[in-house]
Amino acid sequence: MKLALFDDNRLGALTRSGTVDLTAAVPWQHDPDPVTAGWWRRLCRDFAELRPALETAAAGGSAVPVDVPRLRAPVLNPSKVLACACNYAEHVTEMHEVQERTLGGVESWMMNFDVFLKAPSSISGPAQDIVLPEAVVAAEQEIHHESELVIVIGTGGKDIPEDAALEHVFGYTMGLDITVRSAADRSRRKSYDTFSPVGPYVVTADELGDPGDLDIHLRVNGEDRQRVHTSTLLTKVPAIVAYASAMMTLLPGDLIFTGAPPGVGPIQAGDVLDTRISRIGEMRLAVS
Ligand code: MN
Repeated sequence: MKLALFDDNRLGALTRSGTVDLTAAVPWQHDPDPVTAGWWRRLCRDFAELRPALETAAAGGSAVPVDVPRLRAPVLNPSKVLACACNYAEHVTEMHEVQERTLGGVESWMMNFDVFLKAPSSISGPAQDIVLPEAVVAAEQEIHHESELVIVIGTGGKDIPEDAALEHVFGYTMGLDITVRSAADRSRRKSYDTFSPVGPYVVTADELGDPGDLDIHLRVNGEDRQRVHTSTLLTKVPAIVAYASAMMTLLPGDLIFTGAPPGVGPIQAGDVLDTRISRIGEMRLAVS
């Protein structure tokens, strides 16, 4: 299923005829409040059980027009947002040059694969601008786009083995890991409000199929910036889930950004970012 959240976090499914409101098909009362909306994490955890009823409702419901301004980020209240560093070889290579330019030297410890945390409050949706922090702009620090496949965890767990990892994935969405290039911890440079736009849909794992067979494409003001196939991920989705869960318990609804493709570069106010992942969807985001 292709699931969306819209208006006051109503649950929608994108079908051939349009968006069908599934809110009433969820077997508990709708809680529109994002602060208390544990229902979303419950949906992520229990999706296998709920799926037949949701699919029936999606097939039998009538579509309602839901335009982009009504779409919210298709995730709610993740306990954490993880992100992978150094997960495409050509990106690791280009980061030497980026660090020489922005830091005056290469931080060798940052050139290895790892996962790090972004603040969940940095999440924004398909209808929101990416807002550049005034102080960062004033300091003339570069702020970069990283256009990434994002894993949404279903049943969580600790020490999830790689060969069972995909069973723990609820679905996939698209995300931008917006990043300040400066001499500071990653969690600080990547956690400003609106620095994690995600959307427009979560495509459930059963529908998406192989996460290693997706095209990611980002254009800035119509110009190609990042284009990659996820088969070239150095650490692939099952290994990412295993690696992260060896460190910390993954909880239903947690997000994992899978890493920046090559072609990262600066954005500025007035830019328009068009990002697309095959079988997931596309988003147009303005920078302000
Ligand atoms: Mn990234």
